[in-house]
Amino acid sequence: MKYYSTNKKAPKVSLQEAVVKGLAPDNGLYMPETICRLPDDFFYTIINASFQEIATEVAYAFFGEDIEAKTLKDIVYDTLNFDVPLVPVKGESTIYSLELFHGPTLAFKDVGARFMARLLGCFIQDEGQGAVNVLVATSGDTGSAVANGFLGVDGIHVNVLYPKGLVSEIQEKQFTTLGQNITALEIDGTFDDCQRLVKTAFLDEELNRKLKLTSANSINVARFLPQAFYYFYAYAQAARLGKAENLVVCVPSGNFGNITAGLFAKRMGLPVKRFIAANNKNDVFYNYLQTGKYVPRPSEASLANAMDVGNPSNFVRILDLYSHNHQAVTDDIGGCRFSDQDIVTTIQSVYNETGYLLDPHGACGYAGLRESLHDGEIGIFLETAHPAKFLQTVESSINQSIPIPDKLREFIKGEQHSTPLPKTFELFKEFLLNNNKNR
Ligand SMILES: *Cc1c(COP(=O)(O)O)cnc(C)c1O
Repeated sequence: MKYYSTNKKAPKVSLQEAVVKGLAPDNGLYMPETICRLPDDFFYTIINASFQEIATEVAYAFFGEDIEAKTLKDIVYDTLNFDVPLVPVKGESTIYSLELFHGPTLAFKDVGARFMARLLGCFIQDEGQGAVNVLVATSGDTGSAVANGFLGVDGIHVNVLYPKGLVSEIQEKQFTTLGQNITALEIDGTFDDCQRLVKTAFLDEELNRKLKLTSANSINVARFLPQAFYYFYAYAQAARLGKAENLVVCVPSGNFGNITAGLFAKRMGLPVKRFIAANNKNDVFYNYLQTGKYVPRPSEASLANAMDVGNPSNFVRILDLYSHNHQAVTDDIGGCRFSDQDIVTTIQSVYNETGYLLDPHGACGYAGLRESLHDGEIGIFLETAHPAKFLQTVESSINQSIPIPDKLREFIKGEQHSTPLPKTFELFKEFLLNNNKNR
Protein backbone atom coordinates (compact mmCIF):
# COMPACT_ATOMS: atom_id res chain seq x y z
CA MET A 1 0.00 0.00 0.00
CA LYS A 2 1.21 3.47 -0.85
CA TYR A 3 0.70 6.52 1.31
CA TYR A 4 0.06 9.99 -0.09
CA SER A 5 0.46 13.38 1.56
CA THR A 6 -2.66 15.44 2.36
CA ASN A 7 -0.90 18.39 0.69
CA LYS A 8 -0.47 16.32 -2.53
CA LYS A 9 2.88 17.97 -3.26
CA ALA A 10 5.13 15.12 -2.16
CA PRO A 11 5.75 11.72 -3.76
CA LYS A 12 3.77 8.71 -2.58
CA VAL A 13 5.75 6.51 -0.22
CA SER A 14 5.81 3.01 1.23
CA LEU A 15 4.49 2.25 4.72
CA GLN A 16 8.05 2.04 5.97
CA GLU A 17 8.92 5.48 4.67
CA ALA A 18 5.70 6.99 6.03
CA VAL A 19 6.46 5.55 9.47
CA VAL A 20 10.12 6.47 9.55
CA LYS A 21 9.53 10.00 8.21
CA GLY A 22 6.38 10.82 10.20
CA LEU A 23 5.53 14.04 8.37
CA ALA A 24 5.60 14.27 4.55
CA PRO A 25 8.24 16.61 3.06
CA ASP A 26 5.49 19.04 1.92
CA ASN A 27 4.37 19.22 5.59
CA GLY A 28 1.24 17.18 4.82
CA LEU A 29 0.10 14.11 6.75
CA TYR A 30 0.29 10.67 5.19
CA MET A 31 -2.94 8.87 4.24
CA PRO A 32 -3.32 5.28 2.95
CA GLU A 33 -4.18 5.28 -0.75
CA THR A 34 -7.09 2.90 -0.28
CA ILE A 35 -9.31 2.14 2.68
CA CYS A 36 -10.57 -1.42 2.26
CA ARG A 37 -14.21 -2.09 2.95
CA LEU A 38 -14.43 -5.20 5.10
CA PRO A 39 -16.88 -7.91 3.99
CA ASP A 40 -20.32 -8.08 5.70
CA ASP A 41 -19.34 -11.49 6.95
CA PHE A 42 -16.63 -9.92 9.08
CA PHE A 43 -19.19 -7.96 11.06
CA TYR A 44 -21.15 -11.12 11.88
CA THR A 45 -18.13 -13.15 12.93
CA ILE A 46 -16.53 -10.50 15.15
CA ILE A 47 -19.44 -10.68 17.56
CA ASN A 48 -17.84 -13.66 19.24
CA ALA A 49 -14.21 -12.81 18.60
CA SER A 50 -11.62 -11.50 21.07
CA PHE A 51 -10.12 -8.02 20.90
CA GLN A 52 -6.84 -9.45 19.62
CA GLU A 53 -8.55 -11.54 16.94
CA ILE A 54 -10.58 -8.58 15.69
CA ALA A 55 -7.58 -6.26 15.73
CA THR A 56 -5.50 -8.77 13.77
CA GLU A 57 -8.07 -8.75 10.94
CA VAL A 58 -8.22 -4.96 10.91
CA ALA A 59 -4.41 -4.77 10.99
CA TYR A 60 -4.26 -7.03 7.89
CA ALA A 61 -6.59 -4.63 6.09
CA PHE A 62 -4.24 -1.72 6.81
CA PHE A 63 -0.79 -3.28 6.75
CA GLY A 64 -1.21 -6.78 5.27
CA GLU A 65 0.47 -5.91 1.97
CA ASP A 66 3.56 -4.56 3.68
CA ILE A 67 4.21 -6.80 6.67
CA GLU A 68 4.31 -10.54 7.02
CA ALA A 69 1.12 -11.95 8.55
CA LYS A 70 2.93 -13.69 11.40
CA THR A 71 4.86 -10.55 12.37
CA LEU A 72 1.75 -8.42 12.23
CA LYS A 73 -0.15 -10.85 14.43
CA ASP A 74 2.73 -10.86 16.96
CA ILE A 75 2.72 -7.07 17.07
CA VAL A 76 -1.06 -6.96 17.61
CA TYR A 77 -0.96 -9.59 20.35
CA ASP A 78 1.92 -7.87 22.11
CA THR A 79 0.31 -4.43 21.87
CA LEU A 80 -3.19 -5.39 22.96
CA ASN A 81 -2.50 -7.58 25.96
CA PHE A 82 -5.14 -5.82 28.04
CA ASP A 83 -8.91 -5.54 27.88
CA VAL A 84 -10.96 -2.67 26.47
CA PRO A 85 -14.32 -3.38 28.10
CA LEU A 86 -17.61 -1.76 27.17
CA VAL A 87 -19.10 -0.88 30.54
CA PRO A 88 -22.70 0.18 31.10
CA VAL A 89 -23.21 3.32 33.12
CA LYS A 90 -25.64 2.18 35.79
CA GLY A 91 -29.12 3.57 35.62
CA GLU A 92 -28.57 4.51 31.97
CA SER A 93 -30.00 2.04 29.50
CA THR A 94 -28.46 3.76 26.50
CA ILE A 95 -24.99 5.01 27.56
CA TYR A 96 -21.86 2.86 27.64
CA SER A 97 -18.26 3.68 28.48
CA LEU A 98 -15.52 2.15 26.34
CA GLU A 99 -12.73 1.96 28.90
CA LEU A 100 -9.46 2.52 27.10
CA PHE A 101 -7.40 2.84 30.26
CA HIS A 102 -6.35 -0.70 31.14
CA GLY A 103 -2.95 -0.52 29.41
CA PRO A 104 0.51 0.15 30.89
CA THR A 105 0.09 3.93 31.44
CA LEU A 106 -3.69 3.83 31.86
CA ALA A 107 -4.61 5.87 28.78
CA PHE A 108 -5.66 5.07 25.21
CA LYS A 109 -2.38 6.34 23.74
CA ASP A 110 -0.77 3.10 24.94
CA VAL A 111 -2.32 1.29 21.95
CA GLY A 112 -0.85 3.47 19.21
CA ALA A 113 2.46 4.08 20.98
CA ARG A 114 3.25 0.39 21.52
CA PHE A 115 2.10 -0.60 18.05
CA MET A 116 4.25 2.08 16.45
CA ALA A 117 7.27 1.11 18.56
CA ARG A 118 7.03 -2.52 17.47
CA LEU A 119 6.44 -1.69 13.81
CA LEU A 120 9.36 0.73 13.69
CA GLY A 121 11.47 -1.85 15.52
CA CYS A 122 10.69 -4.43 12.78
CA PHE A 123 11.59 -2.03 9.97
CA ILE A 124 14.90 -1.22 11.60
CA GLN A 125 15.79 -4.90 12.01
CA ASP A 126 14.60 -6.10 8.60
CA GLU A 127 16.17 -3.43 6.49
CA GLY A 128 19.36 -3.13 8.49
CA GLN A 129 18.48 0.52 9.02
CA GLY A 130 20.64 2.53 11.39
CA ALA A 131 19.35 3.54 14.79
CA VAL A 132 16.34 5.84 14.89
CA ASN A 133 15.95 8.63 17.42
CA VAL A 134 12.44 9.57 18.43
CA LEU A 135 11.73 13.10 19.64
CA VAL A 136 8.53 13.71 21.54
CA ALA A 137 7.33 16.86 23.27
CA THR A 138 4.76 16.25 25.96
CA SER A 139 2.45 18.11 28.27
CA GLY A 140 2.01 14.83 30.16
CA ASP A 141 0.19 11.86 28.64
CA THR A 142 1.90 11.45 25.27
CA GLY A 143 5.33 11.26 26.88
CA SER A 144 4.34 8.48 29.25
CA ALA A 145 2.63 6.38 26.57
CA VAL A 146 5.47 6.78 24.09
CA ALA A 147 8.21 6.16 26.67
CA ASN A 148 6.53 3.00 27.95
CA GLY A 149 5.60 1.80 24.46
CA PHE A 150 9.16 2.18 23.17
CA LEU A 151 10.92 0.93 26.31
CA GLY A 152 13.49 -1.72 25.46
CA VAL A 153 12.86 -1.74 21.68
CA ASP A 154 16.20 -2.37 19.96
CA GLY A 155 17.61 0.33 17.72
CA ILE A 156 15.31 3.11 18.91
CA HIS A 157 16.31 5.87 21.28
CA VAL A 158 13.56 8.09 22.68
CA ASN A 159 13.96 11.68 23.91
CA VAL A 160 10.99 12.97 25.89
CA LEU A 161 10.92 16.77 26.31
CA TYR A 162 8.69 18.10 29.05
CA PRO A 163 8.18 21.53 30.62
CA LYS A 164 9.80 21.86 34.05
CA GLY A 165 7.23 22.00 36.85
CA LEU A 166 4.25 21.87 34.48
CA VAL A 167 3.43 18.16 34.37
CA SER A 168 1.83 16.29 37.25
CA GLU A 169 4.03 14.23 39.56
CA ILE A 170 2.48 10.95 38.43
CA GLN A 171 2.94 11.84 34.77
CA GLU A 172 6.58 12.86 35.30
CA LYS A 173 7.31 9.58 37.08
CA GLN A 174 5.97 7.63 34.11
CA PHE A 175 8.73 8.78 31.77
CA THR A 176 11.60 9.73 34.07
CA THR A 177 11.95 6.44 35.95
CA LEU A 178 12.39 4.05 33.02
CA GLY A 179 16.04 4.35 31.98
CA GLN A 180 17.30 2.02 29.19
CA ASN A 181 16.58 3.66 25.80
CA ILE A 182 14.43 6.45 27.27
CA THR A 183 15.93 9.87 28.01
CA ALA A 184 13.85 12.48 29.80
CA LEU A 185 14.74 16.12 29.13
CA GLU A 186 13.40 18.67 31.58
CA ILE A 187 13.11 21.89 29.63
CA ASP A 188 13.15 25.21 31.46
CA GLY A 189 10.13 26.54 29.56
CA THR A 190 6.56 25.76 28.54
CA PHE A 191 5.07 22.94 26.47
CA ASP A 192 5.16 25.27 23.46
CA ASP A 193 8.92 25.70 23.98
CA CYS A 194 9.32 21.89 24.00
CA GLN A 195 7.32 21.59 20.81
CA ARG A 196 9.33 24.38 19.17
CA LEU A 197 12.61 22.61 20.02
CA VAL A 198 11.34 19.40 18.44
CA LYS A 199 10.09 21.15 15.30
CA THR A 200 13.34 23.09 14.94
CA ALA A 201 15.30 19.85 15.28
CA PHE A 202 13.35 18.22 12.42
CA LEU A 203 14.28 21.17 10.18
CA ASP A 204 17.95 21.38 11.20
CA GLU A 205 20.15 20.25 8.31
CA GLU A 206 23.18 19.17 10.35
CA LEU A 207 21.14 17.21 12.87
CA ASN A 208 19.28 15.33 10.14
CA ARG A 209 22.50 14.57 8.30
CA LYS A 210 24.03 13.05 11.42
CA LEU A 211 21.02 11.51 13.14
CA LYS A 212 17.90 9.75 11.92
CA LEU A 213 15.06 11.58 13.66
CA THR A 214 11.35 10.81 13.78
CA SER A 215 8.30 11.87 15.73
CA ALA A 216 5.88 9.69 17.67
CA ASN A 217 2.76 11.81 17.88
CA SER A 218 -0.51 11.10 16.11
CA ILE A 219 0.68 12.54 12.81
CA ASN A 220 2.48 9.19 12.42
CA VAL A 221 0.32 6.63 10.58
CA ALA A 222 1.68 3.81 12.74
CA ARG A 223 0.42 5.54 15.84
CA PHE A 224 -2.94 6.71 14.64
CA LEU A 225 -4.31 3.87 12.47
CA PRO A 226 -4.14 1.17 15.21
CA GLN A 227 -6.61 3.25 17.18
CA ALA A 228 -9.26 1.97 14.78
CA PHE A 229 -9.00 -1.48 16.41
CA TYR A 230 -11.04 -0.71 19.49
CA TYR A 231 -13.94 0.83 17.57
CA PHE A 232 -14.54 -2.57 15.98
CA TYR A 233 -14.26 -4.29 19.34
CA ALA A 234 -16.70 -1.78 20.86
CA TYR A 235 -19.18 -2.68 18.13
CA ALA A 236 -18.69 -6.40 18.75
CA GLN A 237 -19.37 -5.95 22.46
CA ALA A 238 -22.46 -3.83 21.79
CA ALA A 239 -23.71 -6.45 19.32
CA ARG A 240 -23.30 -9.17 21.95
CA LEU A 241 -25.63 -7.14 24.17
CA GLY A 242 -28.08 -6.72 21.29
CA LYS A 243 -27.38 -2.97 21.34
CA ALA A 244 -25.53 -2.40 18.08
CA GLU A 245 -28.24 -0.65 16.08
CA ASN A 246 -28.12 3.13 15.79
CA LEU A 247 -24.76 3.42 17.49
CA VAL A 248 -23.45 6.91 18.23
CA VAL A 249 -19.82 7.23 19.33
CA CYS A 250 -18.58 10.28 21.22
CA VAL A 251 -14.83 10.93 21.30
CA PRO A 252 -13.12 13.45 23.61
CA SER A 253 -10.83 15.15 21.09
CA GLY A 254 -7.63 17.18 21.12
CA ASN A 255 -5.43 16.54 18.09
CA PHE A 256 -8.27 14.47 16.54
CA GLY A 257 -6.15 11.36 15.93
CA ASN A 258 -8.48 9.14 17.94
CA ILE A 259 -11.72 10.22 16.25
CA THR A 260 -10.08 10.11 12.80
CA ALA A 261 -9.25 6.45 13.40
CA GLY A 262 -12.95 5.92 14.18
CA LEU A 263 -13.92 7.63 10.92
CA PHE A 264 -11.59 5.23 9.09
CA ALA A 265 -13.39 2.34 10.80
CA LYS A 266 -16.71 3.70 9.56
CA ARG A 267 -15.29 3.98 6.05
CA MET A 268 -14.31 0.30 6.35
CA GLY A 269 -17.95 -0.54 6.96
CA LEU A 270 -18.31 -0.34 10.73
CA PRO A 271 -22.00 0.34 11.39
CA VAL A 272 -21.77 3.54 13.40
CA LYS A 273 -24.58 5.98 12.69
CA ARG A 274 -22.59 9.07 13.58
CA PHE A 275 -19.71 10.34 15.65
CA ILE A 276 -19.64 13.24 18.07
CA ALA A 277 -16.41 15.17 18.62
CA ALA A 278 -16.32 16.51 22.17
CA ASN A 279 -14.29 19.68 22.73
CA ASN A 280 -13.46 21.52 25.91
CA LYS A 281 -13.14 25.33 25.74
CA ASN A 282 -10.67 24.79 22.89
CA ASP A 283 -13.54 24.69 20.42
CA VAL A 284 -11.94 25.33 17.03
CA PHE A 285 -13.45 22.16 15.54
CA TYR A 286 -16.86 22.83 17.07
CA ASN A 287 -16.85 26.25 15.40
CA TYR A 288 -15.83 24.69 12.09
CA LEU A 289 -18.85 22.36 12.24
CA GLN A 290 -21.17 25.31 12.89
CA THR A 291 -19.75 27.75 10.35
CA GLY A 292 -17.67 25.84 7.80
CA LYS A 293 -14.75 28.11 8.69
CA TYR A 294 -11.63 26.74 10.35
CA VAL A 295 -9.96 29.36 12.52
CA PRO A 296 -7.10 27.91 14.62
CA ARG A 297 -6.00 29.87 17.66
CA PRO A 298 -3.61 29.39 20.62
CA SER A 299 -4.74 26.73 23.08
CA GLU A 300 -6.08 27.58 26.54
CA ALA A 301 -5.49 25.49 29.66
CA SER A 302 -8.47 23.43 30.84
CA LEU A 303 -9.22 20.62 33.29
CA ALA A 304 -9.22 18.13 30.39
CA ASN A 305 -5.69 19.14 29.46
CA ALA A 306 -4.98 16.44 26.87
CA MET A 307 -7.65 18.15 24.76
CA ASP A 308 -6.06 21.60 25.00
CA VAL A 309 -5.20 21.96 21.33
CA GLY A 310 -5.78 25.11 19.29
CA ASN A 311 -4.87 23.72 15.87
CA PRO A 312 -5.61 19.97 15.79
CA SER A 313 -3.00 18.27 13.63
CA ASN A 314 -5.36 15.60 12.25
CA PHE A 315 -7.97 18.10 11.05
CA VAL A 316 -6.39 17.92 7.57
CA ARG A 317 -6.93 14.15 7.57
CA ILE A 318 -10.65 14.67 8.21
CA LEU A 319 -10.86 17.24 5.41
CA ASP A 320 -9.07 14.83 3.07
CA LEU A 321 -11.32 11.91 4.05
CA TYR A 322 -14.41 13.96 3.20
CA SER A 323 -12.93 15.67 0.12
CA HIS A 324 -13.10 19.08 1.82
CA ASN A 325 -16.90 18.94 1.77
CA HIS A 326 -18.29 20.58 4.93
CA GLN A 327 -21.74 19.05 4.47
CA ALA A 328 -20.24 15.57 4.22
CA VAL A 329 -18.24 16.16 7.42
CA THR A 330 -21.29 17.34 9.36
CA ASP A 331 -23.35 14.39 8.07
CA ASP A 332 -20.96 12.03 9.89
CA ILE A 333 -19.72 14.13 12.81
CA GLY A 334 -21.59 16.23 15.33
CA GLY A 335 -19.95 18.48 17.89
CA CYS A 336 -20.22 19.68 21.45
CA ARG A 337 -18.10 21.72 23.84
CA PHE A 338 -17.84 21.93 27.60
CA SER A 339 -16.43 24.43 30.09
CA ASP A 340 -14.35 23.48 33.12
CA GLN A 341 -17.47 24.00 35.22
CA ASP A 342 -19.41 21.57 32.99
CA ILE A 343 -16.62 19.00 33.46
CA VAL A 344 -16.70 19.28 37.26
CA THR A 345 -20.51 19.14 37.37
CA THR A 346 -20.59 16.10 35.10
CA ILE A 347 -18.00 14.15 37.12
CA GLN A 348 -19.89 15.01 40.30
CA SER A 349 -23.43 14.26 39.15
CA VAL A 350 -22.57 11.04 37.29
CA TYR A 351 -20.70 9.76 40.32
CA ASN A 352 -23.50 10.67 42.71
CA GLU A 353 -26.27 9.30 40.53
CA THR A 354 -24.67 6.17 39.05
CA GLY A 355 -21.47 5.46 40.97
CA TYR A 356 -19.47 5.63 37.72
CA LEU A 357 -16.27 7.65 38.03
CA LEU A 358 -15.33 9.71 34.96
CA ASP A 359 -12.01 11.37 34.24
CA PRO A 360 -12.19 14.97 32.93
CA HIS A 361 -11.88 13.84 29.28
CA GLY A 362 -14.43 11.05 29.57
CA ALA A 363 -16.71 13.57 31.26
CA CYS A 364 -16.79 15.57 28.01
CA GLY A 365 -17.56 12.37 26.10
CA TYR A 366 -20.38 11.41 28.43
CA ALA A 367 -21.86 14.92 28.46
CA GLY A 368 -21.73 14.97 24.65
CA LEU A 369 -23.96 11.88 24.51
CA ARG A 370 -26.27 13.20 27.18
CA GLU A 371 -26.75 16.35 25.15
CA SER A 372 -27.37 14.87 21.72
CA LEU A 373 -28.53 11.25 21.89
CA HIS A 374 -31.93 10.76 20.24
CA ASP A 375 -34.60 8.19 21.10
CA GLY A 376 -33.68 4.73 19.89
CA GLU A 377 -29.94 5.46 19.77
CA ILE A 378 -27.24 3.74 21.81
CA GLY A 379 -24.31 5.93 22.84
CA ILE A 380 -20.73 4.88 23.49
CA PHE A 381 -18.24 7.41 24.83
CA LEU A 382 -14.51 6.77 24.90
CA GLU A 383 -13.13 6.87 28.44
CA THR A 384 -9.65 7.88 27.33
CA ALA A 385 -7.77 7.80 30.66
CA HIS A 386 -8.10 6.41 34.17
CA PRO A 387 -9.60 8.98 36.58
CA ALA A 388 -6.69 8.51 39.02
CA LYS A 389 -4.39 10.13 36.43
CA PHE A 390 -6.24 13.39 37.15
CA LEU A 391 -6.40 12.94 40.89
CA GLN A 392 -6.83 16.52 41.97
CA THR A 393 -9.65 17.41 39.58
CA VAL A 394 -11.52 14.18 40.17
CA GLU A 395 -11.16 14.16 43.95
CA SER A 396 -12.21 17.77 44.32
CA SER A 397 -15.18 17.19 41.99
CA ILE A 398 -16.59 14.34 44.04
CA ASN A 399 -15.31 15.64 47.36
CA GLN A 400 -13.59 12.43 48.40
CA SER A 401 -10.36 10.59 47.80
CA ILE A 402 -10.11 7.74 45.30
CA PRO A 403 -7.84 4.67 45.23
CA ILE A 404 -4.74 4.75 43.03
CA PRO A 405 -4.33 1.64 40.84
CA ASP A 406 -1.27 -0.55 41.47
CA LYS A 407 0.19 0.24 38.03
CA LEU A 408 0.36 3.93 38.92
CA ARG A 409 1.74 3.20 42.37
CA GLU A 410 4.60 1.23 40.81
CA PHE A 411 5.67 4.28 38.83
CA ILE A 412 5.49 6.47 41.92
CA LYS A 413 8.04 4.22 43.63
CA GLY A 414 10.62 4.57 40.85
CA GLU A 415 13.67 6.82 40.98
CA GLN A 416 13.57 9.83 38.67
CA HIS A 417 16.34 10.65 36.20
CA SER A 418 16.17 13.58 33.87
CA THR A 419 18.55 16.04 32.24
CA PRO A 420 17.74 19.71 32.79
CA LEU A 421 18.15 21.89 29.69
CA PRO A 422 17.43 25.55 28.93
CA LYS A 423 14.95 26.31 26.16
CA THR A 424 17.61 27.49 23.70
CA PHE A 425 17.98 25.34 20.60
CA GLU A 426 21.79 25.31 20.47
CA LEU A 427 22.23 23.44 23.75
CA PHE A 428 19.44 21.01 22.90
CA LYS A 429 21.11 20.29 19.57
CA GLU A 430 24.47 19.74 21.23
CA PHE A 431 22.83 17.33 23.67
CA LEU A 432 21.23 15.34 20.85
CA LEU A 433 24.50 15.11 18.92
CA ASN A 434 26.40 13.86 21.96
CA ASN A 435 23.80 11.51 23.38
CA ASN A 436 21.96 9.94 20.45
CA LYS A 437 22.99 7.25 18.02
CA ASN A 438 24.50 8.41 14.75
CA ARG A 439 23.31 7.22 11.35
C1 LIG B 1 -4.53 12.52 23.88
C2 LIG B 1 -5.77 12.47 24.71
C3 LIG B 1 -7.03 12.88 24.20
C4 LIG B 1 -7.18 13.50 22.82
O1 LIG B 1 -6.96 12.56 21.81
P1 LIG B 1 -6.65 13.05 20.30
O2 LIG B 1 -6.35 11.82 19.55
O3 LIG B 1 -5.47 13.98 20.40
O4 LIG B 1 -7.88 13.76 19.83
C5 LIG B 1 -8.14 12.73 25.01
N1 LIG B 1 -8.05 12.23 26.26
C6 LIG B 1 -6.86 11.82 26.79
C7 LIG B 1 -6.82 11.29 28.18
C8 LIG B 1 -5.69 11.93 26.04
O5 LIG B 1 -4.52 11.55 26.58
